[in-house]
Amino acid sequence: MTYPGVAGAPQPQRAGRPGCRLCEAPLIHTFADLGMSPLANRYLAATQLNDMEPFYPLHAWVCDRCLLVQVEEFESPASIFLDYAYFASYADSWVEHARSYVDMIIGRLSLTSSTQVIEIASNDGYLLQHFLAKGIPVLGIEPAANVAAAASSKGIRTLVEFFGERMAQRLVEAGTSADLLVGNNVLAHVPALNDFIRGLAIILRPQGVVTMEFPHLLRLIEGSEFDTIYHEHFSYFSLISVEEAFARHGLAIFDVEELPTHGGSLRIYATHAAHSIEPASTRVDRLRGREEDAGLRRLDLYLQFGERVKETKRRLLEFLIEAKRAGRTVAAYGAPAKGNTLLNYCGIRGDFIDYTVDRSPHKQGRFLPGTHLPIHHPDRIGETRPDYLLILPWNLKDEIMSQMAHIRSWGGRFVVPVPEVTIYR
Ligand SMILES: [Zn+2]
Repeated sequence: MTYPGVAGAPQPQRAGRPGCRLCEAPLIHTFADLGMSPLANRYLAATQLNDMEPFYPLHAWVCDRCLLVQVEEFESPASIFLDYAYFASYADSWVEHARSYVDMIIGRLSLTSSTQVIEIASNDGYLLQHFLAKGIPVLGIEPAANVAAAASSKGIRTLVEFFGERMAQRLVEAGTSADLLVGNNVLAHVPALNDFIRGLAIILRPQGVVTMEFPHLLRLIEGSEFDTIYHEHFSYFSLISVEEAFARHGLAIFDVEELPTHGGSLRIYATHAAHSIEPASTRVDRLRGREEDAGLRRLDLYLQFGERVKETKRRLLEFLIEAKRAGRTVAAYGAPAKGNTLLNYCGIRGDFIDYTVDRSPHKQGRFLPGTHLPIHHPDRIGETRPDYLLILPWNLKDEIMSQMAHIRSWGGRFVVPVPEVTIYR
């Protein structure tokens, strides 16, 4: 069986609870149980509001053998990503992040018009456009046809496909391989992890470099960022677990950077272990040591996380109940996937929050999954003048507080829910 429309779509595994997606050990330890939740990226049109909506357990496990934190796969990636509403170019800070990465990596790897850059999950071309502007050949791979079309319209060659071993093999046979292979915020979304990493090793030239960015599990734990857990986000990596995953396929991590993006991310640099051309950075050893000191090799650290999640929920509800009893109005800002985990887990709907707003025209006019809060244009905030603005993409809070600074003119305040409720005047 294949899913229509998207080549290479991985198949869901539904026969009982599957084992670990990296090492296949049985999953028996709970990291966080967030109850039943709809798919976080399944925004609804007005015509869908009376339809039944599928909810699935949102339960993160930790593997006691390889320490990969993961959620079970309930719906196929093809179904999740066929009409994906996330267009990277609508977040200013993310576009700037991409531009400065491109400047850095071109210098570091001496990329030229005769080198090939391939990006997996290239979205709407937010990153590859900067290589293209410098005359460096690019290829994007993006399974969501609607965002891939936006990239193609910028002149970025984009294949609408799920990346994996088979696709890598086919590209190599057709003469395409990568000097630089980029994957930002894709590793977490890969259900067939071994197939994906095997594909990286195949398409990477002997002296080529892979860079991948993904949210850092250490920061998720330290910052109680439980709302970054959602069904489309299958795996949650530490440096320890990603090294293990890459080593299985002959790839070695030779450098790592900690980034502020998405609540704290890692950017790893990898090469073929057999052809490693750069000395291992001391940053890898240092971060591995910090993870070990924090307890990331001990199961009990993972098992304590769930209780902190419940306390975060209680505090947010406490704030909202008090605000509503005092007759205050609350609106939300943003419609990110993480907001849907937060609102559904905490049971926050129209009883607490009137609406949310988002800059992306692809989300405006639609409704949040599960909670059915309407998504309006940000101008709505100025029209209704809410007392509180709950910032759902808290990782962008500085950018949002500066864009929306005018709410202070009527005494409006910003509320950030994670790691604990904080009110900014
Ligand atoms: Zn495992």
